[in-house]
Amino acid sequence: AKVAGKNCFRFYSRAMDQAVERRVHLEHELRGAWDRGELSLAYQPVFRLVDGAMIGAEALLRWKHPELGVVAPSVFIDVAEQSGLIEVLGPQVLRQACADAVRWQESRKGEEPLFLAVNVSPRQLRNGDLPDVVEASLRETGLPADLLHLELTETAVIGDERHASSLLSQLRGMGVKVWLDDFGTGFSGLSHLRRVPVDGVKIDRSFVADVLRDPDDLALTTAIIAMAHSLGILVVAEGVEKEGQYAILRERGCDFAQGYWLGHPVTADEFMAVAC
Ligand code: C2E
Ligand code: CA
Ligand code: CA
Ligand code: CA
Repeated sequence: AKVAGKNCFRFYSRAMDQAVERRVHLEHELRGAWDRGELSLAYQPVFRLVDGAMIGAEALLRWKHPELGVVAPSVFIDVAEQSGLIEVLGPQVLRQACADAVRWQESRKGEEPLFLAVNVSPRQLRNGDLPDVVEASLRETGLPADLLHLELTETAVIGDERHASSLLSQLRGMGVKVWLDDFGTGFSGLSHLRRVPVDGVKIDRSFVADVLRDPDDLALTTAIIAMAHSLGILVVAEGVEKEGQYAILRERGCDFAQGYWLGHPVTADEFMAVAC
């Protein structure tokens, strides 16, 4: 048993070394990825449930490395966050996305403008220059502030509520909308809404996934919608993969929805082709 234990340890420790090595390698490769043109933005449409109209899109970062292939955002965003690289990447993403969104509006003349939702990581929020970065992106691209929605996770807000609240107020003062992402996954979610000023919440897709077969998830989703509305906050459901989920969310008064059943994330050019 002792010997096996030793081998086990050696095995796990080598596996750990490899994991660390891989992260260091990813970080190194990610550092130059934007300049080498390996990073791009995909856009996933968001729809309004009352009339089914497309009303906006979420920008999602993609990385295609020549040797590693496609690296999942859940992996490389974490690397960027841990290494601090997100503080360089975040502003680049924001600027590119705003420029793309300006192109949508230009070729949709006369139609309802589409909002642009951009994910902001906890580290970007903690770094106090977010309002300056946002202001510069809007000024340089000419995107109207009210068309920009920033998506923050609950965890980003929980750390330092006072700091977060004042930053969010500053952003909302500029006319930018603030949404809480992955809503419902943090236990303190509901009570937070009283203290943190937001325009909307995105119900996490783990609730949406089970809304047809788990009465608890349906009850929670219905409660989130009712509570958000009573506070004057809008609700998006994410991860809608089935018509039945769409139907029940619509029946429960959810405002907006997003998911594979409605539309997958597509390249900027593909999005232009369908939206404009
Ligand atoms: P998120 O913000 O919750 O984004 C939604 C994720 O769900 C996306 O994954 C999207 O492709 C996926 N999705 C959309 N519809 C469906 C559906 O119907 N079913 C399922 N199962 N999934 C669906 P993706 O693109 O892999 O991104 C993962 C996460 O990486 C994002 O989660 C976000 O937290 C982060 N991320 C992506 N782009 C950025 C970025 O530019 N900046 C920052 N800070 N984070 C980003
Ligand atoms: Ca998001
Ligand atoms: Ca989410
Ligand atoms: Ca469940």
